[in-house]
Amino acid sequence: MLNILLLGPQGAGKGTQGKLISREYGLPHIATGDILRAAMGEGTELGCKVKPIYDAGGLVPDDIMIGLIRERLAADDAANGFVLDGFPRTAVQAEALDEMLDEIGRPLTVVLEFQLPEEVSIERLTRRAGEEGRADDTPEGIRRRLRLYHEETEPLIEHYRARGNLVGIPADRPVEAVWTEIQRVLEQVAVER
Ligand code: AMP
Repeated sequence: MLNILLLGPQGAGKGTQGKLISREYGLPHIATGDILRAAMGEGTELGCKVKPIYDAGGLVPDDIMIGLIRERLAADDAANGFVLDGFPRTAVQAEALDEMLDEIGRPLTVVLEFQLPEEVSIERLTRRAGEEGRADDTPEGIRRRLRLYHEETEPLIEHYRARGNLVGIPADRPVEAVWTEIQRVLEQVAVER
């Protein structure tokens, strides 16, 4: 079983690498941003509730996100592991995740910390704004999301480092190079267990 957490700023390639890991190891890629975009696209109650927050580049309330992840991790396809991307983003979410995983006796195998200089993050998000037209990829949205990343999410790196299962992944490189390194790390983790 491989329980993988992806941490790092917006634009670091977590989505791209998460999909590659998912395909290679047969694990569900649980990306909270994707789940919210699907809910908004379908116009569900959840989607309507989070849309204004999402569009403004804000953080959806912790209780909503925690409930969503609790449900998703209980699904059958996550029984043999998962790739979690975009959650936790706050200390409260991280504590809730620790408790959830403790309860089901499934600790995180590894936390991959995608490392990317802020200017590259801004550059990549600005480019994506033109290509994908995401509602939150406006200049203000990008600034706000990166600020929230620094304030709320970055401190979680120390939380996981202290537990000893954090591995840094330099992410300012081509997709292929990052992917090769991640595979190396995951093979290593598999050997150690
Ligand atoms: P992402 O695709 O991961 O960049 O997420 C896009 C947006 O979804 C974020 O800017 C937030 O508005 C919302 N979101 C995704 N995951 C979370 C989370 N764990 N906590 C709060 N908001 C989230």
